[in-house]
Amino acid sequence: MSPAANPVIVGIDLGTTNSLVAVCDERGPRVLKDAAGRGLLPSVVRYIEDGRAQEVGDGARRHAREFPRTTIASVKRLMGRSASDAAADAGYLSYRVVEGPNRMAVVRLGETETGATVSPQEVSAAILRELKARAEAALGASVSRAVVTVPAYFDDAQRQATRDAGRLAGLEVVRTVNEPTAAALAYGVGLRQRTEETIAVYDLGGGTFDVSILRVTPGEPGDASTDFFEVLSTAGDTHLGGDDADHLIVERLSAGLDRAALTPGDAAALKAAAEEMKIALSEKDSVAREVALSTGTVSARITRAELEAMLGPWVEKTLLSCRRALRDAKLTAEQIDRVVLVGGSTRVPLVRQRVEEVFGKPPYTALNPDEVVALGAAVQGAVMSGDVRGMLLLDVIPLSLGIETVGGAVAKVIMRNSNVPARATEMFSTGVDNQTGIKLNIVQGEREMAADCRSLGEFHLRGLPPMPAGIPQVEVEFLVDANGVLNVSAVERRSGQRAGVQVIPSHGLTRDDVDRMEREALTHAKEDMQRHRVVDLIANSRLDLKWIAERLDKVRPHLEPAYMVELEGAAAALRDLVTRAEADWRGVDANAFHRAKEALDKASVRMHEVSIARTLSG
Ligand code: AMP
Repeated sequence: MSPAANPVIVGIDLGTTNSLVAVCDERGPRVLKDAAGRGLLPSVVRYIEDGRAQEVGDGARRHAREFPRTTIASVKRLMGRSASDAAADAGYLSYRVVEGPNRMAVVRLGETETGATVSPQEVSAAILRELKARAEAALGASVSRAVVTVPAYFDDAQRQATRDAGRLAGLEVVRTVNEPTAAALAYGVGLRQRTEETIAVYDLGGGTFDVSILRVTPGEPGDASTDFFEVLSTAGDTHLGGDDADHLIVERLSAGLDRAALTPGDAAALKAAAEEMKIALSEKDSVAREVALSTGTVSARITRAELEAMLGPWVEKTLLSCRRALRDAKLTAEQIDRVVLVGGSTRVPLVRQRVEEVFGKPPYTALNPDEVVALGAAVQGAVMSGDVRGMLLLDVIPLSLGIETVGGAVAKVIMRNSNVPARATEMFSTGVDNQTGIKLNIVQGEREMAADCRSLGEFHLRGLPPMPAGIPQVEVEFLVDANGVLNVSAVERRSGQRAGVQVIPSHGLTRDDVDRMEREALTHAKEDMQRHRVVDLIANSRLDLKWIAERLDKVRPHLEPAYMVELEGAAAALRDLVTRAEADWRGVDANAFHRAKEALDKASVRMHEVSIARTLSG
């Protein structure tokens, strides 16, 4: 008989607006999806008045407007709180909050006193039950243990209520983990480094904002379960988030309208349009929208700059909390080693930019900010079940990291087996005249062609002034930090334009994958080198031919006919090789190609001399 595998411990982010379940195995942490591919479960439960749960998640949320008194959203605000403590929050909720046993806050369903009451634990249990079923379907195994995250400021009663909700749902909550701790764990903080670190976690969601300062003290080497995460301070605002940004946009959209004439449907349409515009402006510079209202249609165009002017004070409020959290922790921004972003609203570029300015370092953004807490809870689950040993937690970079160049070859920037942390830079240029943007594809692997490697992500360096091919100087920097997070940044030296992206190269990669990729590289080594060489020769020859043709146009009358025959012959020979190599790289001999390129270089010397002499003589 084989020993029973450790039963899996899933990680659950039981959020105010949305909840998620994740698991962490040898491929690292991942969110478990339902049959329709949805990862986020809206934290909304619709009841019928006798107290039976009718719908959980998307369906319940869709019906919220129709059944405001029996559809329970944001119940996290009531967990483990007395009715009097919850009174201020109850004002924001569409359903009735009354006093239940032991003076605790409970929900009275419907309009009358005959409606049943449900406790916040029961509502949370309905959500957890749904997540448990989702996890079991995705994993094909029963799930009975979970790590559940809670806000750092949750007191004992709130944590106990969360555990009780788990028990009601048939889940043993083996640990409650602070949300900021989970976010840090998702990035491997504490799992790799050997020294103490201070982390700031900035969490801006739809309706709440929290910032926490954590200290991570590594425990026994090789035993992540002994690492110690201490919350040094927290600050925030339980009613500040993306919703406020939407309201600012609604005000702008409805500026010329008679607000009193707007129906609830109009208000909902304006809010939905505002949120869509806000989200679009995280990617685009400008968006236009038309919104059909009962009184007619309003249309508006908003630019990113206008949105940022509107959102400035909103972002500043969060930064005040950051400064307070630093003060309470008796730390300066410089003493923060890393900044982690959580929550959908941290996708707003202005938020990222201001957070970077305040803390003086780029924040971690490689993971989806909606998922990072659940992913970290799954990592904690794996640590507790002993599964984390299978995860790829290496002190060296297991596979080379590079950039795809013209023609699809790979320029390796950081070689495999480099120690972590690692940093390297490489210069690149453009292959076409007047290119105003460059796409940078980050690849991982030992093969010479990008198509045979793993693509980790891509980004665009935009806004370059038009320049001839080969003239822009693009410096690309790769930086892998102690947690294995890769920051790639590119800057064009002449224009100062910059762009960057963050990825986690070990995500989804197992030891077996690494071994296989190494083996494949060895098997194909000779052919790959040949191909890489030909592809580079094509790119360089094209640039040479172009430069020579341009110069020749200017100096042709000053060159001897015999020399012209020699030069044009060399150019034609190389052009022919380029054409043939482009059709089939195997169809050319790389050595002969190289010689042809050198022959043209040599033949063009006289032309360059004449050209320079003519330039000098004016
Ligand atoms: P959360 O509570 O973490 O799920 O965050 C939800 C909030 O994030 C909502 O206010 C969304 O409008 C906002 N959000 C989601 N994606 C984006 C985006 N790409 N740009 C700006 N805000 C976003």
